[in-house]
Amino acid sequence: MSSELSGAADANCEPGVADQPVASIGVASMRPGQRSPHLRADCTNCCGLCCVAPSFEAHQGFGFSKPAHTPCMHLLADFGCLIHEQLQARGFPGCHAFDCYGAGQRVTQGLFRGESWRASAEVATRMFHAYHRYRALHELLAMLELAIESSLPADATQLRMRFQSLESMCDSGAAVHAGFSLEVLRREVLQQVREALGRAQRVA
Ligand code: SF4
Ligand code: SF4
Repeated sequence: MSSELSGAADANCEPGVADQPVASIGVASMRPGQRSPHLRADCTNCCGLCCVAPSFEAHQGFGFSKPAHTPCMHLLADFGCLIHEQLQARGFPGCHAFDCYGAGQRVTQGLFRGESWRASAEVATRMFHAYHRYRALHELLAMLELAIESSLPADATQLRMRFQSLESMCDSGAAVHAGFSLEVLRREVLQQVREALGRAQRVA
């Protein structure tokens, strides 16, 4: 989390989507400052989506358990976190470590024009769905950005095309409406990245 405004872990945003080891490709260890600005969380332009949309479990480092689409008890009216300065001490290391890769502000500002899930139940349902998708897509974008830097020129070109394709889906909102499988897309991107990095390592 990057500000006094909130940020929690996406512990259970979309079963099946989070089961691929992106960390093995290194994106999890990539510091936010190394990414493009729009792939860094900007909690001041978000309505605390990660503190509401996902479910989380106490044993995963969240202090208590809550169902999806339910605000955390510590979320403030201005979307700040009541215990922001004490997350570790209060048993919320999951919140401290969480990264939405910039999905939160893109959904709040880019897709919903600054609206909040508090506007209505209908808005909340659409917003949480969008957040789940954008969070997964932004993680892939961050991974692609990292992989482009480490790949051979021909592979880097292909990875850039994939990056632009995902960006277009996010810009247009097709990421929410298109009938594609996020799980299938994720597997394709991971495979593409692994192959590109493998070729780069073989010639290194
Ligand atoms: S979803 Fe992202 S931008 Fe929004 S509060 Fe959580 S960490 Fe911050
Ligand atoms: S404790 Fe609650 S309000 Fe604070 S960052 Fe975690 S989920 Fe958000």
